[in-house]
Amino acid sequence: DVPVLCIDGPTASGKGTLADQVAQRLGYAVLDSGALYRATALAAQCAGVSLQDEERLASLAATLPLHFDGGRCFLDDEDVTDALRAEAVGQGASTVAALPKVRQALHQLQLSFRRVPGLVADGRDMGTAIFPDSELKVFLTASAAKRAERRHKQLMEKGFSANITGLLRDLEERDARDKNRSASPLKPAQDARLLDNSDLDIEASVNQVLTWWSE
Ligand code: C5P
Repeated sequence: DVPVLCIDGPTASGKGTLADQVAQRLGYAVLDSGALYRATALAAQCAGVSLQDEERLASLAATLPLHFDGGRCFLDDEDVTDALRAEAVGQGASTVAALPKVRQALHQLQLSFRRVPGLVADGRDMGTAIFPDSELKVFLTASAAKRAERRHKQLMEKGFSANITGLLRDLEERDARDKNRSASPLKPAQDARLLDNSDLDIEASVNQVLTWWSE
């Protein structure tokens, strides 16, 4: 079977960067599963679909005209890479992600990213729900303050304005929603390795994961 390395954890824990770099070192593909929930929220916003309308959201998710090309993300022909990172879209994603039918609609799409020579899957439930047979499940955490600081830096670099206090509140709200929902709540898989990167730089985190991978 094609190997899968899962990296799950709360918002702004650095999963995306870690997943990209580990994948690059191993020559593997990447699944940014959060982008699928974000794209569903964005598509709903564009189509005027309410974030409570589970049926219509699930059908949007099942037919998302989403593709990835050269590190960019497209909905139909529109490059939505930056739009997907907006804080409001992240909040919308966390709202639609609580709906079981939306999660179900995106399940198959996520499995389709598994391809040779291997996959690094980044999300909340990669190890618990989507790839429970994966060889390595990493659960990445960092203090809320560190995560707010990182999210702030990331948004500024993309030209969004943001303040740290508001971001901290938003991410704690989002964590609470992700942890307390009944459908695939955010929690480490039973056999997950915990990695707290509050005081680790990216290189050290990458090396830790690669060490576990080679064990
Ligand atoms: O990781 P990212 O911030 O892009 O994810 C956006 C939202 O999508 C998360 O807050 C979470 O609610 C949801 N999500 C999820 N399951 C995943 C990935 C993301 O529920 N596998």
